[in-house]
Amino acid sequence: MLPATLDEAVAALADTPAAVPVAGGTDLMTEVNSGLLRPAALVGLGRISEIRGWEYQDGHALLGAGLTHARMGRPDFAALIPALAAAARAAGPPQIRNAGTLGGNIVTASPTGDSLPVLAALEATLLIAGADGARREIPVSHLLTGMEMLRPGEIVGYVRVPLLHAPQTFLKATGRTGPGRALASVAVVLDPARRGVRCAVGAVAPMPLRPLEAEQWVASLIDWDGRRALAPEVLAAFGDYVAMACIPDPPAPEGGGAAPVLPPAALHVRRTVATLARRGLGRALA
Ligand SMILES: Cc1cc2nc3c(=O)[nH]c(=O)nc-3n(C[C@H](O)[C@H](O)[C@H](O)COP(=O)(O)OP(=O)(O)OC[C@H]3O[C@@H](n4cnc5c(N)ncnc54)[C@H](O)[C@@H]3O)c2cc1C
Repeated sequence: MLPATLDEAVAALADTPAAVPVAGGTDLMTEVNSGLLRPAALVGLGRISEIRGWEYQDGHALLGAGLTHARMGRPDFAALIPALAAAARAAGPPQIRNAGTLGGNIVTASPTGDSLPVLAALEATLLIAGADGARREIPVSHLLTGMEMLRPGEIVGYVRVPLLHAPQTFLKATGRTGPGRALASVAVVLDPARRGVRCAVGAVAPMPLRPLEAEQWVASLIDWDGRRALAPEVLAAFGDYVAMACIPDPPAPEGGGAAPVLPPAALHVRRTVATLARRGLGRALA
């Protein structure tokens, strides 16, 4: 089935409840090929032109779920939402970026999904289409944390992202050179109007983590009106604060005794997060 509109796609899913929507197929076909999924039918979303672009709406960008990573990586999109463009450019090799979509990245909700920490830091929301023209809006974080799920027959139509007109960064570390899944990733978003810093860490937990105390601490130290730069020690302390919040030390044993230490692999990831957060904030403020 190849519907041409969002409502046709929802209707196709209502007609064939066992059908599964497919956008770029980069995640779905991996599951099919490995025998984990045997969909009775597919509803292709690739011909729905209304969800392949974006539009402006009340200080927000309404991004179609069918936007590919390749499209989001282009300069005009990067001027709009720089961190999401950087995440899109980091998402896999070119073949994957040409086919893989924003909506697929969100619905798969892999811990290593590159767009997810950016959307969490931006506090983006999802516009979901359901049967009979029903629409509902939920924070992306609700879907990623399992607080709310997609109901049967629903399709993610759009992602609403606030346009902050301020620097933002996305940095990703992989375990190897060249394209690869994130070992850790960090998105940093400045919100000068609210004098806020928002940060989200990806790949270290099942969903992106927000180190809220570290965000508030560093936002209180930024000279929002002037040009005084943050001292390198403050940037380093922010990195450590973020990393410790996301990958804390194991709790001390109840009856006393030596506290257990983090295994070396976890320590490595924690140091990586600290470095990414320090650099990400430093670049955003530069
Ligand atoms: C070799 C390889 C490398 C990769 N590297 C990366 C990487 O570095 N970073 C990264 O983030 N990802 C990576 N990925 C994962 C993948 O490319 C992305 O998650 C991509 O964004 C998925 O989008 P898609 O359109 O292909 O989704 P699909 O495969 O089409 O769909 C994925 C899931 O989402 C559902 N779905 C899709 N769109 C919608 C919608 N609008 N509404 C409701 N449900 C929907 C489908 O039913 C399916 O369950 C990689 C994948 C491969 C195969």
